[in-house]
Amino acid sequence: MSVHVGIVGGGIGGLAAAIGLRAQGVEVTVFEQAPEFGRVGADINLTPNAVRALDGLGAGVGAAIRDSAARPSYRISRTWDTGEETSRLEMGAAAEQKYAAPQLTIHRADLLAALETALPDDVIRLGQRLTALEQTPGEPVRLGFDGGVTAEVDVAVGADGIHSSVRSELFGKESPEFTGVVAFRAVVPSDRLDVPNLDAFTKWWGPDAETQIVTFPLNRGRDTFIFATTPQESWTEESWTTPGDVVELRAMYERFHPEARALLAACDSVLKSALYVRDPLPQWSLGRATLLGDAAHPMMPFMAQGAAMSIEDAVVLTRTLTLGGPDVEQALKAYESARLPRASRIQIGSRGNTWLKSSADADWVYAYDAWTTDLA
Ligand SMILES: Cc1cc2nc3c(=O)[nH]c(=O)nc-3n(C[C@H](O)[C@H](O)[C@H](O)COP(=O)(O)OP(=O)(O)OC[C@H]3O[C@@H](n4cnc5c(N)ncnc54)[C@H](O)[C@@H]3O)c2cc1C
Repeated sequence: MSVHVGIVGGGIGGLAAAIGLRAQGVEVTVFEQAPEFGRVGADINLTPNAVRALDGLGAGVGAAIRDSAARPSYRISRTWDTGEETSRLEMGAAAEQKYAAPQLTIHRADLLAALETALPDDVIRLGQRLTALEQTPGEPVRLGFDGGVTAEVDVAVGADGIHSSVRSELFGKESPEFTGVVAFRAVVPSDRLDVPNLDAFTKWWGPDAETQIVTFPLNRGRDTFIFATTPQESWTEESWTTPGDVVELRAMYERFHPEARALLAACDSVLKSALYVRDPLPQWSLGRATLLGDAAHPMMPFMAQGAAMSIEDAVVLTRTLTLGGPDVEQALKAYESARLPRASRIQIGSRGNTWLKSSADADWVYAYDAWTTDLA
C-alpha cells in the first residue's frame, strides 16, 4: 500500500509505529508537540509481550533497551503491615524462556532514545502541536497545528497520549471520572536503601484496594523506582510532572511495615498525580484516521500495561497497513478489530488493584505476540 502516514505524537507508541511502518517501506511523518525530547518521566515496565513486540521492530531497538534496562528477578507480593510474603513469581531466566523475551524495567527517556535513534531525523517534526483534523472523502486528511502550520497525509494516527487532541477531533471531548486516588512516583539510588529484594518487582498490598506501594529496579539496578497510590479526594491534577510533598507521602504510609517506610524515607523528591478512569471507546477509527496507545485506551496503572499496549498497537497497525489490501479504511478496521477487545479488557482489568493478587496466571497478557496474532 503506497500511502503517507502522519503520526501525531512522538511518544512510545507513535515512534514504535513509525519504525515498524518505515521498515516496510511506508512513508511516515511524526508530528510531536514538544520542541525537543527531554528526560521526562521515570519508569516504564516492559513485560515480555512488550519486549517481544519491540524486538520484532529490528533497527537495533532490542539491543538498545537491554543496554540500559534492569531485569527484575521475581514478582513478589507482600502484606503492608506484617511484611509477610504472599507470592513469588519467577521473572528471570525461566520467564524469559517461557515467553521468549525478558521483562525489562527501563527509564522512559532511555526507551524513547532507543526508538528515536532508530529513525532518521527528517521523519520527526518537533514543536508541532495538533489543533485540528479534517477529512473530506476522496481527499487527503488535513492536519492543523499551532501557528497555522498544516500538513496533508493519506492516513492519520493519533498517538498523542492520554489527553489526545486527535481523539477529541474524531469523537468529541471526553469527560474522565476522578477515582479519588492519587499516585506518587520517585526514583532513589539503590545504594541508599537497606531493604531486601531490590532486584525484584515488589508489590506491598495495602489495607484497602486503592493503597499499595510498588518498587522495581531501574537503570540496571543503580536506582529503585517507587510507585505508591492511596485515596485522596482533595487532589485532582492529572500530570506527569507535578511535584508532590515527601513529608505528606511518608505520613500517608506511616502504618506500613518498617521496610516499606524505609523506601519512602529515602525519597528526596516525588511526583504526584490524580488517577482518572475512562471507559473503553466503542471505536478507534473514523475514515482514514485512527487512534493508538493512550489516545485510544488510557488506563489506570495497576497492571503496568500502558506502554506495552501502545507498542502492541504499533505492531498490529504496521501489519494491517502493510499486509492487507489497498483499502486504508479496511486496514484501519482490521487494526481496530484485532486490538480493541484486548486493550479494552486490560483497560477494565487495570481499574481494580487485583492483577496477580490471588492468581498467578499472567499468560493471557505476557504470552501475546503482536507479530503473529490473528488479524482475521
Ligand atoms: C511526559 C510524559 C512522561 C511520562 N512518564 C511516565 C512514567 O514515568 N511512567 C509511566 O508508566 N508512564 C509515563 N508516561 C506515560 C507512558 O509513556 C504512556 O502511558 C505509554 O507509554 C503510552 O504511550 P503513548 O505513545 O500512547 O503515549 P505517550 O507516551 O504519552 O506519548 C504521547 C505523545 O504525544 C505528544 N502529544 C500530545 N498531544 C499532542 C498534540 N496535540 N500534538 C502533537 N503531539 C502531542 C506528547 O508530547 C507525547 O510525546 C509518561 C508520558 C508522558 C507524555
